[in-house]
Amino acid sequence: MHKLILRPGREKSLKRRHPWVFSGAVARVEGEPQAGDTVDVRTAGGEVLAVAAYSPYSRIRARVWAWDDRAIDGRFFHERITQAAAIRSALFKHGITDAVRLVHAESDSLPGIIADRYGDTVVMQLLSAGAEFWREAIADALAGLQGVARVWERSDAEVRALEGLEPRTGLIRGRPVPGAVTVHEHELAFSVDVEQGHKTGFYLDQRDNRLFLRSLVANREVLDCFSYTGGFTVNALAGGARSVTAIESSALALEQARGNAALNHLPQAQWIEGDVFRTLRRFRDERRQFDLVVLDPPKFAPTAAHAEKASRAYKDINLLAFKLLRPDGLLMTFSCSGGVSPDLFQKIVAGAALDAGVDARIEQWLHAAPDHPVALNFPEGEYLKGLLCRLITEAQ
Ligand code: SAH
Repeated sequence: MHKLILRPGREKSLKRRHPWVFSGAVARVEGEPQAGDTVDVRTAGGEVLAVAAYSPYSRIRARVWAWDDRAIDGRFFHERITQAAAIRSALFKHGITDAVRLVHAESDSLPGIIADRYGDTVVMQLLSAGAEFWREAIADALAGLQGVARVWERSDAEVRALEGLEPRTGLIRGRPVPGAVTVHEHELAFSVDVEQGHKTGFYLDQRDNRLFLRSLVANREVLDCFSYTGGFTVNALAGGARSVTAIESSALALEQARGNAALNHLPQAQWIEGDVFRTLRRFRDERRQFDLVVLDPPKFAPTAAHAEKASRAYKDINLLAFKLLRPDGLLMTFSCSGGVSPDLFQKIVAGAALDAGVDARIEQWLHAAPDHPVALNFPEGEYLKGLLCRLITEAQ
């Protein structure tokens, strides 16, 4: 067995069950583990803390599979993946959706492994050396889940490069994908492009926030910024908004968004292919006004190191959005940057309101849907945070 021995005193975070071993905490490695091999993690005194996947290229030198010295093998992945999927089955059973995140990496005790289910298609994304090492076993476990017809791989996220891994996509188990997959979420249908779409094809984490938006929009003028394939826009149309304007820079995503409105027999939104930063400035100059603005931008800060630059971008769009709101207007604003904490995000939005010359209250904190849990000892898992803010308008 390969061993990874920690420097004295560097076992503290592992004892709190945080699953990462950083390179600086490692005193030495015994044996010759290759990328993805299983290693024993030991204190300087020789006590076994965990078994982990070794990653020679990453600053995260090892990721913990288990907090004892059990064997890591095909059965291990079968058991963990079956268990993670079973927890999500309630969402299927109650007809809430047939599109769920089955495996949420570290938060499901499966570091580096993401699996999203769209109907009978599972999209698997492997992001770490350990996940890559067990690729076949993971694909077998996913393909063996009840009702799964195929497993499609989307291991093309940029973070793979940090682990020394090349991008890889394609069918790994089952029959080919019959074009786009149609899924249902809170009674609305969406077409998901698992081959070309972002991430695994759809932003499942926003499921319940989209439903919440639907309940807020009757007779309102809504602006959906960064609309992708129309997740929030279609919900706003279904909720009886008076008008919906959607801004998105990707022509392909907009075409799919139009298709999603049609799929639900809804009227079309006003789709704007363009840059949100520029379009919001133009709307401000034109004195356009809305009752509700959604801001769901891409990850501006992939890591904490990018937080400062990202903060300026978040502040910019939030400031402009506040300026476009009518009295009593609502701003539903998100950050999916792991490097921006909820506390920092609130400060950014507060600063934006101040500079926009408005006063607002938080009516609700928003989070990812429950199939994206956060392990108690892994705060990094809480990447998506949002605020629903209402402008405070004093009676004259
Ligand atoms: N709200 C969506 C997900 C948004 S993802 C949903 O519920 O499905 C972020 C989107 O922003 C992506 O589709 C990306 O193409 C788009 N985007 C990124 N930068 C942009 C910019 N500067 N202007 C407009 N759209 C942008």
